[in-house]
Formats: sequence, structure tokens, C-alpha cells
Amino acid sequence: MLAVPHSVGIDSIDALLPQTQCQRCGYADCRDYAASLHAGEAEINRCPPGGEATRVALGELLQRDVSAIPALADDVDAYAAEHVALIDETACIGCAKCLPVCPTDAIVGAAKRIHTVIAEACTGCELCIIACPVDCISLRALQTPANWNYATLAARTGQSMQLRDAYTAHKSRYALRAEEALSAMISGTASTESVTDKKALLAEILAKAKTRTTKDLPR
Ligand code: SF4
Ligand code: SF4
Ligand code: SF4
Repeated sequence: MLAVPHSVGIDSIDALLPQTQCQRCGYADCRDYAASLHAGEAEINRCPPGGEATRVALGELLQRDVSAIPALADDVDAYAAEHVALIDETACIGCAKCLPVCPTDAIVGAAKRIHTVIAEACTGCELCIIACPVDCISLRALQTPANWNYATLAARTGQSMQLRDAYTAHKSRYALRAEEALSAMISGTASTESVTDKKALLAEILAKAKTRTTKDLPR
């Protein structure tokens, strides 16, 4: 267990994280990593999108000796800053598995229709790449307001706030859908099969995320 100053709360840790929600740190999202740091269970070098600025800021806040901590933990994948996802529309099968995993709702499309990425909202987090069953999503270099690689935390503040808001809206929307699906199931208007399908999809995505390595990802 690592020491954490009593005066430091989860909010102040979360405020230093970029809000890319990419899960590279090994946690479900930035807030989850912040909670683990707050509990003294995680080291400060697990956030590739945050880079050196975040590592140093976390070190100062949590009173860690930054010089003694490697730039990036061994088990964390690198992040391709200033890249966006690109869907090969000739290969997309319209399965919609990329929609629920996108933290910023940057993908548009309906079931059995071709899907496309709104580049301006894409952070390049790669979660859709992991979720896609036919590997038709790749990354391309493009700066956007969502993935701009600011050198300092102060410069990044506005971007982080927008990404947090987008993620909060995304989570609320999908929580509501889950509630509606459950209500429909209870009232007998939906089969248990569709709920089981969603659980199986989430389990599959989590398993893929855990086994992902940088070499597996398109560059
Ligand atoms: S940006 Fe990614 S790696 Fe960094 S804290 Fe958030 S989820 Fe973890
Ligand atoms: S489109 Fe893909 S890479 Fe872009 S933010 Fe959404 S999940 Fe991440
Ligand atoms: S997961 Fe892949 S195949 Fe399915 S809709 Fe998204 S881009 Fe198309």
C-alpha cells in the first residue's frame, strides 16, 4: 500500500487525468484509476495519454519521488497521440459493437448499417478497435480538439473538461438503455437473450482489453 496524503481526495487526482477514458492504465476509466491512486493501490506512471505532465503532477500531489519512478509502467501500452479512428466502410458489417464502447460517442451508425467516425470527437483511444469483430477500424494521424497533445496540464484543462462531460453523457445514456432493457425484460416485452448478449459482449471486450498488446494494434 502506497502512502497518500490525507488532504488529497479522488476529485483532485481525477482533475489531473486527461479523461481520454482509454483504459490503458488497467482501469475501467480515469475515475477508476483516480480511486485506485487515492487508495494507495496504484503508481503514478500508468497514464500514457497524460504523459510526463500528468506523471509529474500526480507525483507532486501524492508526494512521490518522481525521479525514482519509471516514465511508464512495464505493463501499459503506449498511446498514439493525435490520431483518430477510421472505419473501412467496405468491410463494416454494421454489428454496432463499437458504439457502446466509445467514451465520446464519436461513432455514428445503426444496427446493420455502415458506421463512421466523427473525427472531431475522437480521442484515438482505440477501444472501438478492440471491440470490432472484423478488424475494420484503424488509426490515422489527425489532430482534433479531442486528441490534441497539449504540453501542459493547464493548456489541456478545457479539453479534459469536455471529454469528462462527453463521457458522463455517454454513461448516462447507456445506463438508461440498460434500465429500459431490464424493464422490458421484466415486463415480458424483451427476451432474456438480448440481455445475455449484452453481458457476453461486455465480457468479450474486457477479455480482449486485458490481453491487448501494442503490437496487436494497427498504426
Ligand atoms: S486517460 Fe486512459 S490511461 Fe489515463 S487515466 Fe484515463 S483511462 Fe487511464
Ligand atoms: S471512435 Fe474509437 S478511437 Fe475514437 S474515441 Fe471512439 S472508441 Fe475511441
Ligand atoms: S464494430 Fe466494426 S463491423 Fe461492427 S459496426 Fe463497428 S466498425 Fe462496423
